[in-house]
Amino acid sequence: MNRNPIYVTKASMPPFEEYLQQIAPLWESAWLTNNGALHKQLTQALETRLKVPHLCLFANGHLALSMAIRALHLKGEVITTPFTFASTTHAIVENGLKPVFCDIDPQNYTMNPEKLTSLITDKTCAILPVHVYGNVCDVDAIETIAKEHGLHVLYDAAHAFGVEVNGRGIGTFGDASMFSFHATKVYHTVEGGAITFADPALDRTLYHLKNFGISGPESVDAVGSNAKMGELHAAMGLVNLRYIDEQIRLRQKVAERYRERLSEVKGLRLPPVQSGIKRNDAYFPVLFDESLFRKTRDEVFAALATQNIHARKYFYPLVSDYACYRDQYDSSLTPVAQYTANRILTLPIYGSLALADVDRICDLILQIS
Ligand SMILES: *Cc1c(COP(=O)(O)O)cnc(C)c1O
Repeated sequence: MNRNPIYVTKASMPPFEEYLQQIAPLWESAWLTNNGALHKQLTQALETRLKVPHLCLFANGHLALSMAIRALHLKGEVITTPFTFASTTHAIVENGLKPVFCDIDPQNYTMNPEKLTSLITDKTCAILPVHVYGNVCDVDAIETIAKEHGLHVLYDAAHAFGVEVNGRGIGTFGDASMFSFHATKVYHTVEGGAITFADPALDRTLYHLKNFGISGPESVDAVGSNAKMGELHAAMGLVNLRYIDEQIRLRQKVAERYRERLSEVKGLRLPPVQSGIKRNDAYFPVLFDESLFRKTRDEVFAALATQNIHARKYFYPLVSDYACYRDQYDSSLTPVAQYTANRILTLPIYGSLALADVDRICDLILQIS
């Protein structure tokens, strides 16, 4: 039992020497932040990699999302999902907007567009869906509804780095999308994030907002913040970008092994395989239906923990059940999200996870059932 702990993820580390080479010129230039050379280089490299026309880098994904909300001048209510990380909802609330929770699809756990229309009021200004686990939202249905009602669409694509829909970059849907480059994500810059967007005019707005609203040497025309990405982080991003395809390929191997071992087990629901979608295998969520599997998600979680294997209950509790929100919301109004949050467990998945460890995790799950 004295094995090294296995966590749900492990940051991918590029070769140390390559990182040193990447940052060495900074000791000459001493230009460490504020749109430095590496920042510019990474912006372009990511526009190409993500197949998006425009991209603006940020210090992290959360501030990126928050600034995008401000850049779109949203006011009133934003329809979003309760089945997500705290960041999505907090970004709405901290901008003085009201989140309205829409239920999710039972197969891919993203916002269910069939539940969307009835939540639209004259106060609704935008839809903020999440490509949760890297699963693609029903982007076409959401676009149709948004157009019909004149609503903005801002995607939380924090999990969806490199995902494509019939060859089209996931960051090209809606008005804008937020990517997170946090160390626990598929692709990372240690801390970091980006907004991708279609309207080139957003570029200036976002750039000013992340730099205190400064628009010129003697002019400040917006109440901005400080959300810039520095050169050391951009350097990590440039080096990690050389290894991202390999990382995703290794993740696919892990996901394949989980599928081989667990797909026939009664009472388990594995992640969906969406047709036409290039996946990134960011997460491997398994839903445990206790009526068929006989053990609950919490029992599986505990059994793995005794073997030093630390799966995570992403996303439990629902955001609408957080202490800071539960007085204002009733989670029974999003029953699919509630059902899912109580039964889902994301199993460890990362590029360097040994297939022998995947087998050990599967053996443990099969033994306790
Ligand atoms: C990680 C994450 C964020 C926030 O990204 P950070 O880079 O950590 O600020 C937002 N939304 C979701 C769904 C996330 O998983």
